[in-house]
Amino acid sequence: MLNFELYNPTKLVFGKGQIEKLGTLIPAGAKILLAYGGGSIFKNGIYQQTIDNLKGFEVVEFGGIEPNPHFETLMKAVEIIKAENINFILAVGGGSVIDGVKFISAAVNFDGNPIDILQKHILIKENAMPFGTILTLPATGSEMNSGYVVTIKATQEKLASGGSALFPQFSICDPTVIESLPKRQLQNGVVDAFTHVMEQYLTYPHEGYLQDRIAEGILQTLIEVGPKVVENPANYALASNFMWSCTMALNGLIQKGVPTDWATHMIGHELTALYNIDHARTLAIIGPNLYRVLFETKKEKLAQYGKRIFNLSGTDDEIANEAINKTVEFFHTMGIDTKLSQYTEDYSKTADFIVNRFDERGWKAMGERQNITLEKLKAIVEMSY
Ligand code: NAP
Ligand code: FE
Repeated sequence: MLNFELYNPTKLVFGKGQIEKLGTLIPAGAKILLAYGGGSIFKNGIYQQTIDNLKGFEVVEFGGIEPNPHFETLMKAVEIIKAENINFILAVGGGSVIDGVKFISAAVNFDGNPIDILQKHILIKENAMPFGTILTLPATGSEMNSGYVVTIKATQEKLASGGSALFPQFSICDPTVIESLPKRQLQNGVVDAFTHVMEQYLTYPHEGYLQDRIAEGILQTLIEVGPKVVENPANYALASNFMWSCTMALNGLIQKGVPTDWATHMIGHELTALYNIDHARTLAIIGPNLYRVLFETKKEKLAQYGKRIFNLSGTDDEIANEAINKTVEFFHTMGIDTKLSQYTEDYSKTADFIVNRFDERGWKAMGERQNITLEKLKAIVEMSY
């Protein structure tokens, strides 16, 4: 196992009715920026629950954070925070609102041009503005990690960054909030969380036996509850297990002591930046083809995954191949298309575009073994058409 440090200061407050604790979680006397997205919180009652539990605090509202949040929008919030002397941010939303708030928190006290935080991948280790979250969409794990992804609209770049100062102080995870989620977002949540696990599990050499068992438990739970929760989000047992699985998939625990890949996410971000495809769907397009192109270095782990998750038998090569097919089948069961051509007609130059972009950024060796070269990248994307 690799050496590791484990640090996760986020206080998770999980369960039905827990939004009631909001007022006790925010520092007394804080002046709050209440950040939200396109307005779903007004329709499902979460806004009202939030406001009801913020009595006694001064609150300034900032709405309109879009899915795949834009740098340009977030900088407007930074200006408001400075003008209004705000000292605490509350994110109420899914991964986009929470990620957006992490960037705002980083940018407010940043000494320099905040766009550099993204383009130069500057990690924020101090001077971030404290924030908490109310999660409304289980998927990203952003409620309990310190990473975020922001799109620069002007350059059509979707870039990930983070830093140890960007953990939420608290996150309230009430599984009943998923009742109002459209099917499409429930499907996305399951597949995003599933792929988060795969990015940390399907790597080699990997000597995290315990991490493997935890990862496999999350995958099995997502396979068990995923298709059902999409049909019945009001079922609390399904909703709570789905929500907790998504948090556990990316709160840092299963990546301790093991190598991680993340190339599926890096490539997927380009598909969202180019074609505005939902994040999770980009992962379903790229992931299986990445496993195919990297078959030789990942096959041992693919075989373990095939045996333990899908009960497959045969030679290791056969199991590994069939495990990839089973993964695609699972995404289809979740109602997710796995080919780029099912999302856009304009795909023929995608591989060349992404290869050029990664080349310019110096991203010439990706994956846990740094063996995803630009040539392999091209093969992965072309296989995904
Ligand atoms: P999202 O973009 O936050 O939300 C998608 C849509 O769902 C929005 O229209 C949103 O409406 C709506 N919605 C949210 N909660 C709802 C509810 N309870 N009822 C009805 N509608 C609701 O989706 P997401 O998948 O959570 O986040 C995706 C973003 O996170 C991407 O940018 C992705 O790259 C990033 N990401 C981050 C991490 C990380 O570790 N930080 C990991 C993976 C992905 P509103 O606009 O009204 O809120
Ligand atoms: Fe993701």
